[in-house]
Amino acid sequence: MKARDVFISALRRGETPRRATGSATSVATVDLMEKTGAYFPEAHLDADVMARLAEAGLTVLGFDNIMPLCSVCHESAAMGCDVDWGKRDLMPTIRKPLYRMGEEIRIPADLVKRKEARVPLAAIGILKKRHGGEAAIVGKVFGPWTLGYHVFGVQEFLISTILAPDDVKRAMDTLKEATVAYARAQIEAGADALCLADHATRDLCSPDMYRDFLKDIHAELTERIACPLILHICGDTADRIGYIRDTGVACFHFDSKVNAAEARALAGGKLSLMGGTSNFRIIREGGEEEIAAEAAEKLAAGIDIIGPECAVPLDAPYANMQALVAQVKRQERSGA
Ligand SMILES: [Zn+2]
Repeated sequence: MKARDVFISALRRGETPRRATGSATSVATVDLMEKTGAYFPEAHLDADVMARLAEAGLTVLGFDNIMPLCSVCHESAAMGCDVDWGKRDLMPTIRKPLYRMGEEIRIPADLVKRKEARVPLAAIGILKKRHGGEAAIVGKVFGPWTLGYHVFGVQEFLISTILAPDDVKRAMDTLKEATVAYARAQIEAGADALCLADHATRDLCSPDMYRDFLKDIHAELTERIACPLILHICGDTADRIGYIRDTGVACFHFDSKVNAAEARALAGGKLSLMGGTSNFRIIREGGEEEIAAEAAEKLAAGIDIIGPECAVPLDAPYANMQALVAQVKRQERSGA
């Protein structure tokens, strides 16, 4: 079974001859940029550079998938947000909000044709051609909660969830159309699956808020987007995995703040689980022993796709991701 098929089957909790490894979020580190000669910020804005950095997820790290969108800003930039594309060791950020809550949001009709949106589409096309027979090509879109942070600013958006919930719901109804349009364009470009990142983290979004503002939207996105979705939410999400399970999303990419065995119990038999490996304790700081113990814990907990919990820190050594993949394979072979 090819890596691609192992990954896609694992997304659906299907049979696989071995455990899948990979990530739905960025695996770029500065030392991986040095190894590939493909650096930030060009890797956000030039399709060839983006593809060259991303393919190292397969060719250098040994993961079963490739995910080329390392920033959180592509569709927001295409919508008109002013983006600082950062530096080699600094992720891009939104400079200032585009709207005040209550104002009418306009999703540009040519959203996916705008340069910032087009570059990842071209990179997905290149990767599909180069590695599509071998590895799963995973795209990434942002859900309306994260897009709300970007276009309104985090503070304005969160205050409005309390003071003007109807305005927030209206805004999210509009913003989700950007998510759908960009998702469909990435599938057309060659994506096998998509990361749906929506930062409804516990400190910024209570479980009731998840239920009231987001659950139905995530269920709707799952229906309208014709490929397996990997929902990514950082932080402690134990209080909402039950709701996430009800959305019908294929896979949940979870943070190490949720214990892996607890995540597996909460997810039930149908929701696939990815990630859960600490970016700080393991990916950045871990030694050989910690990495071996981490692989053993994730294998035992039944995590379907083992890998980092979220975008890896840019100053982490990529060798630790290679070591994690090697440990998963070694321990499975030895039947540990
Ligand atoms: Zn995250």
